[in-house]
Amino acid sequence: MAQSIPELYGSLVFNDKIMREKLPKDMYKALKKTIENGTHLELDVANSVAVAMKEWALEHGATHYTHWFQPMTNFTAEKHDSFISPTVDGQVIMDFSGKELVKGEPDASSFPSGGLRATFEARGYTAWDPTSPAFIKDRTLYIPTAFCSYSGEALDKKTPLLRSMDTLNKEAVKVLRLLGNTEVKHINTTVGPEQEYFLVDKDLYNKRKDLIFCGRTLIGAPAPKGQEMEDHYFGTLKPRVSAYMHDLDEELWKLGIPAKTKHNEVAPAQHELAPVFDTTNVAVDHNQLTMEIMKKVAAKHNMVCLLHEKPFEGINGSGKHNNWSMSTDTGVNLLDPGKTPAENTQFLVFLVAVIKAVDDYADLLRISVASAGNDHRLGANEAPPAVVSIFLGDELTEVLKAIENDEFFAGHSAVQMDIGAKVLPHFVKDNTDRNRTSPFAFTGNKFEFRMLGSSSSVANPNIILNTAVAESLRQFYEKLKDVPADEMESAVHELLKQTIIDHKRVIFNGNGYTDEWLEEAKKRGLYNLVSTPDALPHFIDEKNEKLLTSHHIFTDAELHSRYEIKMENYVKTLHIEANTLVEIIQKDLLPSITTYMEKLAQTASLKKSVVPGISVSAEASLLSRLTELAETMTKDLETLKADTAMAEYEVDKDLLKSAKLYQSVVLTDMEKVRVSADAAEALIPDSILPYPTYGKLLFSI
Ligand code: ADP
Ligand code: MG
Repeated sequence: MAQSIPELYGSLVFNDKIMREKLPKDMYKALKKTIENGTHLELDVANSVAVAMKEWALEHGATHYTHWFQPMTNFTAEKHDSFISPTVDGQVIMDFSGKELVKGEPDASSFPSGGLRATFEARGYTAWDPTSPAFIKDRTLYIPTAFCSYSGEALDKKTPLLRSMDTLNKEAVKVLRLLGNTEVKHINTTVGPEQEYFLVDKDLYNKRKDLIFCGRTLIGAPAPKGQEMEDHYFGTLKPRVSAYMHDLDEELWKLGIPAKTKHNEVAPAQHELAPVFDTTNVAVDHNQLTMEIMKKVAAKHNMVCLLHEKPFEGINGSGKHNNWSMSTDTGVNLLDPGKTPAENTQFLVFLVAVIKAVDDYADLLRISVASAGNDHRLGANEAPPAVVSIFLGDELTEVLKAIENDEFFAGHSAVQMDIGAKVLPHFVKDNTDRNRTSPFAFTGNKFEFRMLGSSSSVANPNIILNTAVAESLRQFYEKLKDVPADEMESAVHELLKQTIIDHKRVIFNGNGYTDEWLEEAKKRGLYNLVSTPDALPHFIDEKNEKLLTSHHIFTDAELHSRYEIKMENYVKTLHIEANTLVEIIQKDLLPSITTYMEKLAQTASLKKSVVPGISVSAEASLLSRLTELAETMTKDLETLKADTAMAEYEVDKDLLKSAKLYQSVVLTDMEKVRVSADAAEALIPDSILPYPTYGKLLFSI
């Protein structure tokens, strides 16, 4: 009989239930303590866990284990070792020690390190993250790990993420104590990332070099139909898509990934998957796995899953919504307004801490989602603009206004206030209407950061968010720590009031897609960092460097290395795109234009030889138009080649200059080539065209 879903769920995960079953009681307790409090793990505990893990893995058919880590690419990395250990009599036993569990030593030299490699040893090590459960995939035991250089520099995304969770935990607990909360020992940030993607037929995909090399189409005339009928969003799932989604859910569930929601998205061939939220580092690991499994399962269905932010021009691209909150070990969501005024006070403190964080570090948040792919979406009326602002909704905005003006909040009938003006308002949770145009929206009991691109790891935005909020809370603590208990309420009120006054400019409840907002944002002094090369240099601004180093998220060296890696990644992406376009035009499109012109010319002269004096004006005008387009295309292509060479020449001399050249010159050249390419495509019969059209790609599943 087929397994039930509860049986299937997490069946490939070394989860708490398995640990309790497999580990001696004292060892289980010691491991739980490490997981919950981040305390040091003793070797005897590690050994015991390793034995249990190995036994469990062997029972599930595993032959290998791997330290799974997240280098500074958008992908994960793994090197597999088998469990075999030869014995003297020519046999093998299956072996796995605590030492092998907690530490691995992959060669780090071929991962991006942005200068760290030059300064430090090439070797790196991976260290087990016991807070994210191990799992089995393709007969290998996967152990989630952090990846560091030998001298301790982080070479991955998990290390800074864990550091950011630590600092937020520390600062939040301090503030909770001041507010009189004595129970909470630990706070975690929680994340639920909604993931958008496209599905295209694999046979069609294989004929598109641009999709193969760049993940997005570089040319392509619009299909007769796009998303204008608004008939795809939440539409009926087609059988092939539905079968894919079923398979995908099952694969994710086996890995303990709580896939919850699935539906068609706005663009044709676009879909979305959302899991139930989890602790941030687990959610980040799960999102990486989800993206990988999405691609794998698609291959089984003879499809390709596109995770690029803008696979097709003229229709929506794909993003990721990062739902984020903070929750206590006592089970309280700190961004839930709660039911009593005391809970409200706590809520308001954490709410304004987030508002302050987003205003103070809007540039860092923008940078955390910056990529060549995402540049095509932000501000293109399908995703929020590049300006970071907060949507709070009417009620909360009123609450904050009341605090700012020392007024009563009378908006809610349940309001309970009978003392002086300094008292904090009482209000209940309001499921505010959802403003889809805001990059950072409060949605009832969490914030939703909506600027993320679909292909990137969600680690970076959460590192910044956690750290920026930790800094707000650190400052709050400094302001409140010496206040006598009987003055605390009034001091908190003053703090809230001042923070609102200082940071209300970042709050905007209107339509973020309009030009008026961009003007208004400029007046308010908010950043509008349109492209990646505009945004990235701010990563190493003094205030940002100070934030990230003082909270021990990055050392100076790590920070600069990450800046370099991001910038290099941008440059390389555009370079590959330019080369791909050149290849497609030269080797595929122009020859097909020639073929078609030849046919037209032959037809015209054949017609004339059969019926002298016959009109060939249709052939002649097509021939003239195609000649014109081929000439323009060839000229524009030469410009593109020359400008690409110029931008590339700058890479080693002045990386920022090179990035700006790619952004402002090369990208523009590419768009120019595209104009004549798309015009020619529209005239060439499908039978001659060397690649499938948008119409086929978007409507064939
Ligand atoms: P939508 O934004 O589409 O209306 P929901 O409000 O249902 O969707 O939630 C979207 C995502 O937010 C889901 O992944 C959900 O698990 C997640 N989420 C809900 N509560 C929290 C929370 N406290 N912290 C982080 N994520 C959360
Ligand atoms: Mg959402």
